[in-house]
Amino acid sequence: MVSPGLMKEFQRILGKEQVFLEETDRATYAYDAAVLEPVMPAIVLRPKSPEELGQVVRLCHENGLPLTMRGAGTNLSGGSIPGRGGAVVLTTALNNILEINEADLYAVVQPGVITAKLAAAVEAKGLFYPPDPGSMAVSTLGGNVAENAGGLRGLKYGVTRDYVMGLTFFAAAGETVKTGSRTVKCVSGYNLAALLVGSEGTLGVISEIILKLIPPPATSKAMMATFDTVGKASETVAAIIAHRIVPATLEFLDNFTIRTVEDYSHAGLPVDAAALLLIEVDGHPAVVAEEAEKVEAICRQQGATQIHIAKDATERDRIWSARRSALPALAKLKPTCVLEDATVPRSKIPAMIRALEEISRKFDLTIGTFGHAGDGNLHPTILTDKRNQEEWHRVEAAVEAIFEVALELGGTLSGEHGIGTAKSRFLEKEFGKGTLLYSKRIKAALDPNHILNPGKIIGE
Ligand SMILES: Cc1cc2nc3c(=O)[nH]c(=O)nc-3n(C[C@H](O)[C@H](O)[C@H](O)COP(=O)(O)OP(=O)(O)OC[C@H]3O[C@@H](n4cnc5c(N)ncnc54)[C@H](O)[C@@H]3O)c2cc1C
Repeated sequence: MVSPGLMKEFQRILGKEQVFLEETDRATYAYDAAVLEPVMPAIVLRPKSPEELGQVVRLCHENGLPLTMRGAGTNLSGGSIPGRGGAVVLTTALNNILEINEADLYAVVQPGVITAKLAAAVEAKGLFYPPDPGSMAVSTLGGNVAENAGGLRGLKYGVTRDYVMGLTFFAAAGETVKTGSRTVKCVSGYNLAALLVGSEGTLGVISEIILKLIPPPATSKAMMATFDTVGKASETVAAIIAHRIVPATLEFLDNFTIRTVEDYSHAGLPVDAAALLLIEVDGHPAVVAEEAEKVEAICRQQGATQIHIAKDATERDRIWSARRSALPALAKLKPTCVLEDATVPRSKIPAMIRALEEISRKFDLTIGTFGHAGDGNLHPTILTDKRNQEEWHRVEAAVEAIFEVALELGGTLSGEHGIGTAKSRFLEKEFGKGTLLYSKRIKAALDPNHILNPGKIIGE
């Protein structure tokens, strides 16, 4: 797929050591965190500067070579699997934090910066970058922007989209495009950043990101509420929001997940609880004290059997690291772990949880459910073994049933993990033919050679 002449051009631009052709090197980039078949890239490229990245994009365009960008490869929808082979382009060497501006509250970063690295760097300056995907220790900001990643703080602070002030990216033919600015307000031109955020590498190749920073909350309080039925826990989620309280974080864990996490992390979780809510309120100390009291009262009214308020930072960290270990803990139980993120309006969380229990029974599958209940974004996680064909068919049917019920409840296929190839065939069900056609027209206009991450979101 890559002619010797083209390969030499890549080597001239990047240097031989940044062009990977060996099968063993390429195999590393044939898959991501989604449960999908790997696809071998023809070549793997590692530009070290935005200029090199732009030249790579131009060469791919001129030669009709498909180009799939890759950050850390942690996405869960097949976004960085090179569907048609072609080139996988790594952002690992584009990993500089270019500026943290304390006066104007923004940061400028290259796409390969690890999310947690930026969060720590801004925290050291007394500032706050809220989007905190569970994968933040390894995921990149380019990947976060391309997937519009969410996280545990999405309920109060929003998702990556809410922090993107501006982008520089390469169009399919390699021209540099800029959108947004370092100012709080900017209405110059089309809002191209809105188009690029969540576009999964299908409309442009991001080379620089301007991100909004905010002052950190003065204080916070984390608590764990224990319930003897899943119904009571899910009704409590809806009740907290209905009382006009927006916690920074409002997470749900079912009994299966609680037990699995406890086995894995020994965090002292109540293994007999039917469900847990992990809640954090933050802000001004007076507001935090008042909201924490109200949340506690609501939990008790709704029938919480126990409420534990973290005494100090160590206890708070233990609660959140237990939550963050939910996926790794579940993933250890079976060879294949299918994590979904269909999302519903939050008042429909009780109905969604009931439906998930029904789906688990109907298809006779082990499903651990946890997630960002306050956002209506649960992660039903099906534990299986893909090699068991008969069970795998039931898994596929269960996933489809999850999508169907989420849409029936007025929700969406994906709250944060993206569509990729994993869910592209269901997109029409959510939005109808018109939306799909409109999206395909945008893609055709902006990427006429169809080289930017082909096959993702809207299919081939
Ligand atoms: C344990 C675990 C926990 C997770 N928790 C969360 C969570 O809480 N919230 C959440 O939203 N997601 C979560 N995810 C999913 C995943 O981490 C996110 O989607 C993340 O944003 C992907 O970042 P990445 O650097 O790994 O990108 P990749 O997976 O490498 O790429 C993701 C997409 O971005 C495109 N892309 C990458 N760089 C660029 C670029 N420079 N220009 C254009 N396109 C580009 C790729 O082509 C691909 O389509 C989790 C995943 C795991 C494994």
